[in-house]
Amino acid sequence: MSTATLLAPEQLKLDVMNAPQSPPAPREFKNLHREVTADAIAVLTFDRPDSAANIFDRATLEELNAHLDAIERDSTLRGVVLVSAKPGIFIAGADLHSLSTAPMNALREMVEFGQRVFSRLAALPLPTAAAIHGACLGGGFEVCLACDFRFATPDKATKLGLPEVLLGILPAWGGSTRLPRLIGLPKALDLILAGKTVVSKQALKLGMVDDLVPNESLLTVALAKVAKAGRKPHRVTPLEIKATNNIIAGNLISMLTQPKLFKKTRGHYPAVLKALEVVTLGVGRSEERALKLEADAICQLAQTEAAKNLIRVFFLQERAKKLTLEPGRPRPGHAAADVGVRAPVKRATVIGAGVMGAGIAQWLAARGVSVMLRDINTDAVGRGMATVGKLFADGVKRRTFTPVEARAAMDKISPVVELPSLRRADVVIEAAVEKMDLKKDIFRKLEQLAGPDTILATNTSALSVTELAESLIARERVVGIHFFNPVHRMQLVEVIHTPHTDAEVTRRALKFVQAMGKLPVLVKDSPGFVVNRVLMPYLVEAARLFEMGAEVMDLDEAMLDFGMPMGPLRLVDEVGTDVSLHVAETLASHYHRRMAVPEVLSKLVKGGHLGRKSGEGFYIHQGKEASVGEAAERFVKDDSAANLDRADLTLRMVLLMVNEAARCVEEGIVSGPEDVDFAMIMGAGFAPFRGGPLRHADTVGVANVVRAMNELVDEGEERFAPCALLKDLAAKDGKLYPEKGVLI
Ligand code: NAD
Repeated sequence: MSTATLLAPEQLKLDVMNAPQSPPAPREFKNLHREVTADAIAVLTFDRPDSAANIFDRATLEELNAHLDAIERDSTLRGVVLVSAKPGIFIAGADLHSLSTAPMNALREMVEFGQRVFSRLAALPLPTAAAIHGACLGGGFEVCLACDFRFATPDKATKLGLPEVLLGILPAWGGSTRLPRLIGLPKALDLILAGKTVVSKQALKLGMVDDLVPNESLLTVALAKVAKAGRKPHRVTPLEIKATNNIIAGNLISMLTQPKLFKKTRGHYPAVLKALEVVTLGVGRSEERALKLEADAICQLAQTEAAKNLIRVFFLQERAKKLTLEPGRPRPGHAAADVGVRAPVKRATVIGAGVMGAGIAQWLAARGVSVMLRDINTDAVGRGMATVGKLFADGVKRRTFTPVEARAAMDKISPVVELPSLRRADVVIEAAVEKMDLKKDIFRKLEQLAGPDTILATNTSALSVTELAESLIARERVVGIHFFNPVHRMQLVEVIHTPHTDAEVTRRALKFVQAMGKLPVLVKDSPGFVVNRVLMPYLVEAARLFEMGAEVMDLDEAMLDFGMPMGPLRLVDEVGTDVSLHVAETLASHYHRRMAVPEVLSKLVKGGHLGRKSGEGFYIHQGKEASVGEAAERFVKDDSAANLDRADLTLRMVLLMVNEAARCVEEGIVSGPEDVDFAMIMGAGFAPFRGGPLRHADTVGVANVVRAMNELVDEGEERFAPCALLKDLAAKDGKLYPEKGVLI
């Protein structure tokens, strides 16, 4: 993934806009340094000052251009090697801030300038090599593609790829042109269209790099290769690449691939289709014409809502990685300097070894935390450890861990039935069954066993963290740390603070979540927090529309067409009709009529139709397959929704999500609309290209949203009544996001 620049966007905009056609050489080199070895090989070292990452911004491109001037003038040189001084990153990508904020003419100039610089590197009469250690993505990999040789370290940190389509754009600094020429059209398409990033071993297999070399000898090997080559190598295109890299094969592959891509993306990701067009056309044309196709395409794509929203999501992820509470007043007895300098979490205790407890224990242990995993008896703990073992085994299969790493991490978990003193535990996470009285009992016990600084966290889905805290004396140490299921796949974690939570505890909880590689969103305690609260009215509405005669397939297909990863009734089945009912009832007890639970859910549960886990719910489940079942049909009440078309069904389900999302902002349980949008995209898979429910409302127009809600209210559907915030905004034709967003 690319990394955002450290420069202020205004500054960059100016840089880009003021840049003349042939920029003057920079007066000093800040990001890229040139040294010449005794063998007369120029080593260009990327080392962005005051940053852990290298990125390709305007300044770095200009520096590279100026170094190329000097290299071209120096007839004594015998070769060039590119290397990074950063410990875990080669070059993380292009500078997204300047790309996304630049006006169209500046964007085109920046793209074409990058292409010219990389083409100069490719055209040097000397042999060139990239010595790659760490992330080598987007523009970072494109500069390597302009070299004659590529060497990479076998380390886990070394990942290569062109992930641009995931941001709604495409590789346009030569990546869409040079990758197919290097590895052949089919393999290049496979990587570019999925925005795939691969580890170096796979990169070697695919032909993206020439060899793997340990980091200690990386530079030496690259230097030796260039010295030995003596002159620019003449690459002969292998026959199998020639066979696919031509106009006829390109057209054919494009024709065959396009319908599949369209079906998969439902037309929502224009970058994927555009990348297919550009790459397949490019292979049959001169490099110059192929580069022009790239530049035209990125300028077109950058204007799409999808690209803007996907880039926003990327920035929101970056923001979550750094999220903290502003330092407040220090806690009595603690110096202000304590803030942020506390040692990282080393020891954790997890209470409850079920689906969530085992998942959390596995995740923490894999990140070096010693975990005590507690359940009520040896059978329950044994089952939990078996779950942990399976998660590690799957991780080994996916090559996330080596068998040795998995074994070592597994050894970090101690299963227990009786809890010893927890004085040394940095954090305790309770993930026992969802019952308030039971959780209160557990917390009272924890309060006695834990040390004065142990964070007491609950993973509850929908119970009140405040009520739980109020059953304790040490209520300031209680927070919610709400992981999503499955823990190893879901990046979002809701960190929930109550009016009693000490700011330092919240800060530590955020830091802990970040250190564990998850993305936190900070939420004030309120029923359902953000994700379940916004998701539930949508799921409940789908079940209600089903009761009113809408078809399962119509409801689910409608939302798949909208861009959700799974239809709502299928999701209810996957989560379990019983779990969905429980959360829905908990929320209904707080939000009353607007979340009233349709009877079909309780009837399914009563009949033992619990969804996937029992084999049937709204669907019949067989392995991974699901077909519409009959069990639920008996609970259809009337046909009042039978005539609604898919657009009507979508509208109703989406309006309820938008309304509830707006209420989260109105009630101030989050800091702004971006928190809700981020949480819904990362925690519920809300169509990322729409930028979240609130960004979607802005795109459609808040006034239009409110009008549609009022029309339904007029038809007697009270639950659609717009919240005060939406009504106010509609009245003044306002937006949920300020006109000039902070991000783009
Ligand atoms: P689960 O039923 O799979 O596991 C609960 C475990 O807690 C069981 O093994 C049970 O034996 C154990 N337990 C019960 N009483 C205990 C006690 N006094 N001490 C220790 N262990 C005890 O439930 P789950 O799905 O893992 O959910 C756990 C918590 O996480 C719940 O609060 C739930 O709402 C929340 N949650 C669940 C999901 C999900 O999708 N399953 C997602 C997020 C949060």
